[in-house]
Amino acid sequence: MDMSLIYLPLFMLPGRYFIVAGIFYFIFYVWKKKEFSYLKIQKTYPSKKKIFSEIFYSLFGLFIFAIVIFLMFVLIYNGFSKMYKNISEFGWIYFCFSIVSLIVIHDMYFYFAHRLIHLKKLFFIHKRHHLSVNPTPWAAFSFGPIEAILQIAWLPLIIILIPLHKYALLIWSIFMIVMNVIGHLGYEIFPKNFLQSPIGKILLSSTHHNLHHSRNNNHYGLYFTFWDKIMGTEYPDYKKVYETVKSRPSQS
Ligand SMILES: [Zn+2]
Ligand SMILES: [Zn+2]
Repeated sequence: MDMSLIYLPLFMLPGRYFIVAGIFYFIFYVWKKKEFSYLKIQKTYPSKKKIFSEIFYSLFGLFIFAIVIFLMFVLIYNGFSKMYKNISEFGWIYFCFSIVSLIVIHDMYFYFAHRLIHLKKLFFIHKRHHLSVNPTPWAAFSFGPIEAILQIAWLPLIIILIPLHKYALLIWSIFMIVMNVIGHLGYEIFPKNFLQSPIGKILLSSTHHNLHHSRNNNHYGLYFTFWDKIMGTEYPDYKKVYETVKSRPSQS
C-alpha cells in the first residue's frame, strides 16, 4: 500500500472545509453582511478570537478524521471492506439507495451519539463544540479529540458492512459538509414557509441547530428533524423562533 495516501485525506478534508465554510462566511459575514443581517438568528456577532478558535479546532477535528480515513484506506487495501469498483456491479438504483442509506444511517448514529455526549458525565467530550454559543460556518468541525473520533467512528464500520462505491462516499461527504456548514451558518437561509413544506417537515434548518448551540439541550439531529420529533427532543417553540427570524423586514 502506498503510504503517500495519507496526504489525500490530510489535504482533501481541510481543503473542502475551507472552500464550503469560506464561501458561506464570505457571503454572510463579509460581502453581504449588512443586506442579510435581518436573517441573522442571534443578533450579535462572535469575536475574531472566537472565529479563529473555531477554525483551529475544526482543523484539529478534521486532522483526526484524516487519520481515521487513512485507517479506512488500510482496511480497503487489505480487502476488509465491501467497497466495489464499477457502479454496474450493483447498478444505479443500488448506487442511489446506498447514498440515501449513508445519509439516514449517519443521521441516526449522530443523533444517539450526540445525546450520549450530552449526558452530564460525558459532556466534557462535547464541551469544545458548545463553546460556540453563537456559531459561524467555521464551527462545523470544532471538536475535542474524543468527540472527533466518535463522530467518524461509524464510517470504517459501514464500509465493512455495506457495499459502497467511492462516488457514493464522495456525494455523501459533500452533502455532510454543506449541511454541517448550513447548520452552523448563524443565518436562516431557507424560505419563510419552509417548515410547512414537505422538505421542511424533515430537513433540519440553520435555526434548528442554532437553538441547540444557544440553549445547549434538545435538537440533537444532524440532517433531519424526525429523531428529535420521535424522541421528544424538539423545542416546542422551534416553529415560532423560525418564523420570528423570517418575519423581520429585509434591508432592501
Ligand atoms: Zn451538542
Ligand atoms: Zn453544532
